[in-house]
Amino acid sequence: MQRDEIISWLRQDDPSALERLWRLADTVRQENVGGEVHLRGLIEISSYCGRSCAYCGLRIENALIRRFRMSEGEILECAHEARRLGYGTVVLQSGEDFALDAGKVARLIRRIKNELPGMAVTLSLGEREPEELALWRESGADRYLLRFETSNRELYDRIHPGLGDKPSDRFLILRGLRELGYEIGSGALIGIPGQSYSDLAEDVLAFDRLDLDMIGSGPFIPHPDTPLGGLNGAEVPRAENQVPNDELTAYKVIALTRIVCPRANIPSTTALAVLNRESGRELGLRRGANVVMPNLTPRQYRGLYTIYPGKTCLNEVENYPGAIREKIEAIGRTAGTGRGDSPRHAAPAMN
Ligand code: SAH
Repeated sequence: MQRDEIISWLRQDDPSALERLWRLADTVRQENVGGEVHLRGLIEISSYCGRSCAYCGLRIENALIRRFRMSEGEILECAHEARRLGYGTVVLQSGEDFALDAGKVARLIRRIKNELPGMAVTLSLGEREPEELALWRESGADRYLLRFETSNRELYDRIHPGLGDKPSDRFLILRGLRELGYEIGSGALIGIPGQSYSDLAEDVLAFDRLDLDMIGSGPFIPHPDTPLGGLNGAEVPRAENQVPNDELTAYKVIALTRIVCPRANIPSTTALAVLNRESGRELGLRRGANVVMPNLTPRQYRGLYTIYPGKTCLNEVENYPGAIREKIEAIGRTAGTGRGDSPRHAAPAMN
């Protein structure tokens, strides 16, 4: 698909045309990655963050939230819970917390790998040093998630400042992760103030160029205590062709991502479920996605990991472990039983 075609799909609002897009994405998904939905248990291990991202509630300037950092024992307990629920992967996510030192994380990865043979470990700990990423890979980590957020460099610099005099280059880090042998995941924020349709189309094309194993994009949800959420928000210039941060645009991005990157693992993201609690997850799965990441963060911390508001409303559904499987089966799919490794680099099916 070319850039202009992606843009015209992103602008499409005719229901019957969109119905064709959803059907095409669903067919491409079925033919390339099948009917399994892989479940990844998300553990939000720390809300401390040293960065100043204009979109994120965990930014260092936000003094209104209570910070937490889980102990190794607590994290292991969550990983065991993932196994009890039959999940093949745990995702460890945090703010950019430099007190999570490389050695501690390495020991944690080794313990998960020892205590839970066969469990895949995905890290989503932000921009860390190449030596740290190498150590974690050697310790057994399988995958790393690092969204590039937007491929428009100017917009990115505005919403994601570097650290001190070190500029942020997530494309460079992703290449390094690939060389270390990680499966790599990335994605974009949809509807950032200042993001145009053509910016978002470039993001979709970048997914393909980066040869990603996993691609998770979600709608931008304004957080009131951040610059993009009202706090000095008036200073943010809107793009002339501003992309909406709505549910429909998020489905379009999932569908187009599936068509452009047929063999990638694509989650139906939590942010989408926040916009439509009733059926956002399922609709994402029916429009190209094949992964869900249920939240396993312990109750006492869950409400504190406020990258954006509204997440906590999802607790009740997810606390009932059977619910997600039932929803998956209700749309004619099956919950994956293995690790759900990247199909991108597996041998193509013979027939
Ligand atoms: N510190 C890690 C993990 C951050 S949370 C990192 O930066 O990679 C994971 C993702 O949440 C981010 O990459 C971002 O795309 C998303 N996110 C943050 N704030 C958000 C918001 N206000 N609305 C929607 N998604 C948001």
